[in-house]
Amino acid sequence: MTDYCPYQLLTAAAQVHCLLGDALLSPQDSTDLWACAGCRIPRIMANRPCIHLEPIKRFSLRGQGVTYFRCSLLDIVIDEPETLCPMCVDYEQS
Ligand code: SF4
Repeated sequence: MTDYCPYQLLTAAAQVHCLLGDALLSPQDSTDLWACAGCRIPRIMANRPCIHLEPIKRFSLRGQGVTYFRCSLLDIVIDEPETLCPMCVDYEQS
């Protein structure tokens, strides 16, 4: 991760709390690609995406993270919002 993440909190125990994925990550884990270091969410959310776009993060097992996006207007899942959203007639940049 190179950008500021609005969903990231540092705990008193020096763990990283991903609020979006509701997961506690060790400082080492947070620098791995499966966690924060490979997460697309900070970059996409910093680029003023559509107001209807919601990021989703899931950590089902330690060492595995899944990232996708949801359009709250059309109720669809989007993998690459940076490509698809600007082509949508309902696109409204935040
Ligand atoms: S996993 Fe992604 S959304 Fe969660 S705290 Fe890390 S960078 Fe932010």
